[in-house]
Amino acid sequence: MLELTHVSKTYQMGTVSVHALQDVSVKINEGEYVAIIGPSGSGKSTLLHVIGCLDRPDTGSYLMGGREITKLTDDQLAVLRNKMMGFVFQQFHLLPYANALENVELPLVYAGQRHLKERARIRLGEVGLSERSTHRPTEMSGGEQQRVAIARSLVNEPPIILADEPTGNLDSKSEAEVIAILEDLNKKGKTVVIVTHEPEIAKRARRTISMRDGWVISDEKRDSVRGEDKTAGPPGLFESVMAGAHAGVGKAEFGDHIRQALRAICSHKMRSSLSMLGILIGVGAVIAMLALGTGAKESIAQRLASMGSNLLMVRAGSHQLHGVALEAGSVTRFTTQDVDAIAKLPEAKRVSPSVTGRAQVVYGNKNWNTKVEGTGVDYKDLRAANPTLGRFFTAEEIRSRQKVALLGVTVARALFGDANPVGATVKINRINFLVIGLLPEKGATGFQDQDDTIIIPISTAMYRLLGKDYLDSIYVEGVDPEQMSAAEKGVRDLIIKRHRLTKDKEDTFEIRNMAEMQAALQSTTKTMTWLLGSIAAISLLVGGIGIMNIMLVSVTERTREIGLRKAIGARGVDIMIQFLIESAVMTFSGGLAGIALGVGLSALMANLAGWAVRVSLFSIVLAASFSIAVGILFGLWPARSAARLNPIEALRYE
Ligand code: ADP
Ligand code: MG
Repeated sequence: MLELTHVSKTYQMGTVSVHALQDVSVKINEGEYVAIIGPSGSGKSTLLHVIGCLDRPDTGSYLMGGREITKLTDDQLAVLRNKMMGFVFQQFHLLPYANALENVELPLVYAGQRHLKERARIRLGEVGLSERSTHRPTEMSGGEQQRVAIARSLVNEPPIILADEPTGNLDSKSEAEVIAILEDLNKKGKTVVIVTHEPEIAKRARRTISMRDGWVISDEKRDSVRGEDKTAGPPGLFESVMAGAHAGVGKAEFGDHIRQALRAICSHKMRSSLSMLGILIGVGAVIAMLALGTGAKESIAQRLASMGSNLLMVRAGSHQLHGVALEAGSVTRFTTQDVDAIAKLPEAKRVSPSVTGRAQVVYGNKNWNTKVEGTGVDYKDLRAANPTLGRFFTAEEIRSRQKVALLGVTVARALFGDANPVGATVKINRINFLVIGLLPEKGATGFQDQDDTIIIPISTAMYRLLGKDYLDSIYVEGVDPEQMSAAEKGVRDLIIKRHRLTKDKEDTFEIRNMAEMQAALQSTTKTMTWLLGSIAAISLLVGGIGIMNIMLVSVTERTREIGLRKAIGARGVDIMIQFLIESAVMTFSGGLAGIALGVGLSALMANLAGWAVRVSLFSIVLAASFSIAVGILFGLWPARSAARLNPIEALRYE
């Protein structure tokens, strides 16, 4: 049923060509028990690998059941190996992390027949290991491991058993057991080909093929009763396997792939958790960093918007010039007449004076220290301070210095809790004020709570509460936001004229143009976001490199695993799917944990440090997709190269 004619195989070792097989012609009939002997390096294993479809010959033909199989695709060969061959290797090649039963089941997985897994238990019983089915290979003796491997080779009920020095690593007692099992299998009708250099073992075979330097130098048949007359092979099996191989049956089921992948992840806890950790840190850092950046940006933008971009702030000049304190009288003091004069400028739409101070506010037994600001009526529109409850004060109330006040929400909450403060009387620095309104919430931005404030009429503030006869600043709203520089100039000229300022005194007041400040702040926040973003990108990169390293470190071990899986019938796609699932599961769970970490860190920063943070969907998507891409790429890439090797090369990989 197996017929090799003029088969050669040459390996290139650097510049040296090693002729592992030279013009080998061998015919093996069903039910034969063949021993291949010869010195080390004579090509025995290579011959066995060619017979087992683990390796392709360079030249020559190989007929199985009368059909040429050297031209079959890799996947078709995988199906052949899975259904027709059982392999027993010198090094056992069991999956170290799977128990005996799971190892025996493996060929069933790639046959898509895991539902037949009772067979695995039966086979394990037949090699006398029923009691050891849940033990891992590391907990078993060499003899036991080899018996597990034999059970594995039998589970798909292949007609051919190929054993490469199966007793090479065993003590003599185990050797006897293993040989007995193989002989028994042959008696039950299996074709057995065994590579050995033990003359004792070879003698018990009915046929001995001797090799030297890649040549078959002798082929002795001691018993020709079996085999000669049965050249057709098991009726129909080969044909149905071939048909199946062509039709693509015998594919492992997806559920089995998932099971295999999860098994591999769970059994390499250290490796898996390290890869997950890499992703977790990368993703978490990116989300938290970007949350901080976006939060800061938004808080500044919000604050700027609440100020208005068409706003000028006129203030008494800095008390210092080039770091040197100026003498008294060097500061321009503004009065309400200045306000009225500015209001008449065509560039000015609204003008509001301002004095500020701090005050102790008392209501009942509640006490609160806050900022008090005296303003004009235009303040309401100029600073978008339309009361949410009650009303703003009127020009008449300013003229008559009424003791009325509007509370910011922080103050209202401190004194009144959730109750409506409008209509109540509070004491501000021991003076009774009537609360007439509640200011809209502006939010705590940065380090300053804009709602921790009280607004009262400018006149009341100056003459009754703070005892000032000058203004601290004047807010001017321009008519046209595009013409703020012109407005600034108009206001500046007006003040210079009114106060008769000489050239050298022109810097005794200053005008802040909010539009300019906004632009400056915006570019600052942009820089900051970039900075945080690049820190985040670096952490992502570091995380990615971490994942990559861990994935690559396990390549050797995994390559052998891939070799074994391929040897017992896994196709390239089976390998890829399993590794894809493994990488996806690890990177996904790492990514999810990273998102949780990032969001948690952001919440922590917001609550403990009081920083403005904003977790953006973009950062989550960016971080998660990047690390998943890295994880999958470096999880798959080594698997892909390993899956492309022929099984024997992968098994020998070091
Ligand atoms: P045996 O099993 O009889 O000891 P092998 O079939 O393993 O011999 O090897 C036959 C020859 O081919 C040896 O010289 C070996 O070094 C060489 N050989 C086998 N496999 C490879 C390979 N993958 N690459 C290079 N040389 C190889
Ligand atoms: Mg060998």
